[in-house]
Amino acid sequence: MSRPGFPLTILEFQQRFGTEEACRAYLFASRWPEGFACPGCGGRDCGAETRRHLWICTACGRQTSVTASTVMHGTRLPLRTWFWAAYLVSTFHPGISAKQLQRQLGIGCHETAWAMLHKLRGAMVAPERELLKGEVEIDEFYLGGYEEGLKGSRQRGKKTLCGIAIEVRGRGSGRLRLQVLPDPSSASLLALTKATTTPGATVHTDGYQAYNVLADHGYDHRRRPKQSVSPGEELLPRAHRAISNLKAWMHGTHRGVSPEHLPVYLDEFVFRHNRRGTPMAGFQTLLGLGLAHEPITYRQIIDRAA
Ligand SMILES: [Zn+2]
Repeated sequence: MSRPGFPLTILEFQQRFGTEEACRAYLFASRWPEGFACPGCGGRDCGAETRRHLWICTACGRQTSVTASTVMHGTRLPLRTWFWAAYLVSTFHPGISAKQLQRQLGIGCHETAWAMLHKLRGAMVAPERELLKGEVEIDEFYLGGYEEGLKGSRQRGKKTLCGIAIEVRGRGSGRLRLQVLPDPSSASLLALTKATTTPGATVHTDGYQAYNVLADHGYDHRRRPKQSVSPGEELLPRAHRAISNLKAWMHGTHRGVSPEHLPVYLDEFVFRHNRRGTPMAGFQTLLGLGLAHEPITYRQIIDRAA
């Protein structure tokens, strides 16, 4: 049995997750689709849910919460607030700000809404990121410098080098990957390629020399110098379309992003791009249901920002 499905419309969502009990039942079914199983001893029997919402294993006495290993772990907010936040973040196009989230859900303090949003974003990286395959376009580009006027002049125009890999699907695009790059060296571009693309794949790049190393590492490298592109034809069209969408999105929705936070936003953009056909399906992923990795904590967010 797999984890329970997700509601397809906002009305269905509202009906299904109208109470704390309904949310908790959904978490139970997501965590234990085949019935309770103790994470300590594997025991299948438990007592009734305690007043503190814990399930106690009959065999070993271990207490388990349905929010353990989800982004909601240790939260003081109602589960309904989390469910709605995940719904809004996964379906709101082109993305939602902490201020919008705070207003929509009536969250008292901005810091709480901000931390929530960042926790949900933290779940946007699937732990088992499959490598791209077939034909892939790879490129590097500069992003950022949006914080003009918002921060001190030191920040102004600060741009970050990023790498992109995107699958060719006929005339359209397949899956996308984005990464911050330390520099535009061969080593960095090779690391980007290895982290995103299956060896043996056909990799299209522009004429930049640093990509020449790809052929030595098992990639079918097709380098296209600018001179070889005929008028009206575009070099790496899918990569360039995704980059311009990313820039518009960053500029329109997330103006004040500092370079330290950029990776989180790149992950969000990739998450949205790769699920653009089924945004509702993202809701479970964002809550951390059935995820192997630990959800990020508020402390880690602050440390990353420091
Ligand atoms: Zn047990």
